[in-house]
Amino acid sequence: MPKASQALTSGLLLKQLRSDVYKVSPKKRDMNALERLMALVVQGPDGSYAAAEKAVSALKAHFTHWNEVRVSRAFEVADALSSRRIGNAPERGLAAQEYLRRVFGLQNHLELDWLYDASSERRDVLLDAIEMAPPHAGPVLDLDAMEEGDKVPVSTDLKRFLSRVGALAPSPGGKQVRTFMGNAFKEKSLFPSYVAFQVQAAQICESKHPHCRHCPVLNSCPYGKRNLGNPTYGIALEEMGMAGKTKTARN
Ligand code: SF4
Repeated sequence: MPKASQALTSGLLLKQLRSDVYKVSPKKRDMNALERLMALVVQGPDGSYAAAEKAVSALKAHFTHWNEVRVSRAFEVADALSSRRIGNAPERGLAAQEYLRRVFGLQNHLELDWLYDASSERRDVLLDAIEMAPPHAGPVLDLDAMEEGDKVPVSTDLKRFLSRVGALAPSPGGKQVRTFMGNAFKEKSLFPSYVAFQVQAAQICESKHPHCRHCPVLNSCPYGKRNLGNPTYGIALEEMGMAGKTKTARN
């Protein structure tokens, strides 16, 4: 596919996958892995990352160390957040404390910087174990773990998704995927764009049981159309308000 067409296709897919939830900024220099993951947990699956990060900063400023937050009374944590004008203080405080308790329960300590030296799969084991991380936490940590000069990670999930949706030929190589994504990801939009693609690829476009019926790019996807069959495909498009808006990912 020519470069201009790839840019068009990646832009089209991104438009359909974009969500405010994925507006996660790059990790601040003074933030460790425990704090970064706490911000993602406090954000949850549909909150604002910026607000969650402010909540974590407020707790960090108020308490001497994270163990103190873990063992404090719930109202003390909520008060610390309220005093710095953080919204939903009781809920955010409880989420932060529960997260710290789970991390401590798993490791007997709160140090999590090893996550950045671990493989993506090992990070996923920890995220599954704490049972509080939102679906975009894994891709965010994958980007955080990149070092200068590293290439954007390419997963089997991404290859499968881009191939099914018709953006790339079947079984694409890592280089093809990076070239395709490079057309969509400008430096400052790397996090929200990559996270949108990766969550879609891993959570919706699952290997054995893709959730085509509720997929936000169903109207661009030849595989999804075949998978559902004509009558169900039409019904699914109707239900998602996509009827008459069929698009082609491959130009
Ligand atoms: S419609 Fe189905 S196969 Fe196509 S991208 Fe969505 S989940 Fe994957």
